[in-house]
Amino acid sequence: MSDAIQLTINGHSVAGAAGQFDVINPATELTVAQAPLASVAQLDEAVAAAGAAFKTWQHSSHENRQTLIRQIADKIEQHGDELAEIIVQEQGKPLFLANMEVQGALAWARYTADLDIPVEVIEDSPNKRIENHRKPLGVVASITPWNWPLMIAIWHIIPALRSGNTVVCKPSGLTPLNTLRLVELMNEVLPAGVVNIVTGEAEIGNAISAHKDIQKVVFTGSTATGQRIMESAAGNLKRLTLELGGNDAAIVLPDSDIDAIAEGLFQTAFLNMGQTCACLKRLYVHESQYQAVCDKLVELAQAQTVGDGMADTTTFGPVQNANQLKIVSELVSDAAANGGKVLCGGEALSGDGYFYPPTIVANVSNGTRLVDEEQFGPALPVIAYSEVDDAIRMANDCSVGLGGSVWGKDLDAAQAIAAQLECGTVWINGHAEVLPHAPFGGCKMSGFGVEFGLDGLLEYTVPQIININK
Ligand code: NAD
Repeated sequence: MSDAIQLTINGHSVAGAAGQFDVINPATELTVAQAPLASVAQLDEAVAAAGAAFKTWQHSSHENRQTLIRQIADKIEQHGDELAEIIVQEQGKPLFLANMEVQGALAWARYTADLDIPVEVIEDSPNKRIENHRKPLGVVASITPWNWPLMIAIWHIIPALRSGNTVVCKPSGLTPLNTLRLVELMNEVLPAGVVNIVTGEAEIGNAISAHKDIQKVVFTGSTATGQRIMESAAGNLKRLTLELGGNDAAIVLPDSDIDAIAEGLFQTAFLNMGQTCACLKRLYVHESQYQAVCDKLVELAQAQTVGDGMADTTTFGPVQNANQLKIVSELVSDAAANGGKVLCGGEALSGDGYFYPPTIVANVSNGTRLVDEEQFGPALPVIAYSEVDDAIRMANDCSVGLGGSVWGKDLDAAQAIAAQLECGTVWINGHAEVLPHAPFGGCKMSGFGVEFGLDGLLEYTVPQIININK
């Protein structure tokens, strides 16, 4: 990658006024490129540019916005290989997953472009008509994490644009390069100031959350950061969508066909090396099938080829950063020290790169840190239960509630259990599947608000009721 990577503010490429920082390849620990570091003054410029652009953009027709978003999707498609390679280099995931991320970005952009924002007629009687119109909010700030950086940026930016807002986005400092390029491409299509990008971590993040000219923050990241954003957003009563951490439980019912579901359990627990908000993170299995499930998962884990995401043979990449590797290592060591049995993996690979093989840990239960805390990495605790009610209780014994799943042949029984789980999405015979048309969000300390579908789009609007006395 070239070293001349720049911010985009008001349609212009600009250097970071606060300097530059290294972006590290997690497979090699070498510097991929230097990224520009934005100053708080540059954030103010970006917000002012977005505010000025909003004056026109909010009145642009739906057709115009739809056309421009479709053109953005075409740009992403044309530059798909380039974007995927940037993702592999800074994020670490294997190329096939980076390509999947680019395809996801395209699918969401195109689906959201096509959505209509209806005017709801609340009353239409002889003397009165009441309509609910949806108006954009103004300047929306997007703050994204490092796990699916391109796709999550699209999840935030596109619905904001579709509904008539302008945007200032801030990617994670660990994976800024793909989003810097994405915003450059968007600016080849959009009027100046409609989408701007700044970089940095907590200092800029705090300045965004407290900024009086930003009307909404859409944030995907940890619960702790979400809490900080909520505190500092109070000044101008910013609207918030908070997609935060999860610790998704899956319950495998005794009637399950283990051979049929094992691959699904493995893939949804280790998607993106387990670094996915809605990955399966705690697996509850009936004692009658416990050994069989553990054996299958170990077999699948040992069939992975761990390596650099650019290598053709790699099926399993590194953890994205040293801190996350440390968290995963500590949680597994703690489980082992407290009676857990590490069935495979369990140690970081020696040499360069943040490699940690897929790890299955048995003989653990609620009360073990690996079960109670979000590992956000390639280590899955498997917990035995004897009564389904106990499994439900253990699944709900958690401060967060993003997703959950029930696996079994009797769909009615599975659905009855699903209704008892405290989480935003329950999958039956699946997990971690997010779709452009299905609203997705968390309950409890996984945040609030939803993304995707019409419900997600409307979160970027404020209702205006027109009450007409005929
Ligand atoms: P993080 O909270 O550390 O960082 C997320 C973003 O917040 C980054 O851009 C970071 O620079 C920024 N940030 C840091 N301090 C800030 C502050 N004080 N104010 C404003 N912004 C600040 O999270 P992460 O480590 O990048 O991501 C991992 C976490 O994200 C996991 O807990 C995971 O579950 C969660 N996540 C959730 C979803 C979801 O949809 N629910 C999706 C992906 C990741």
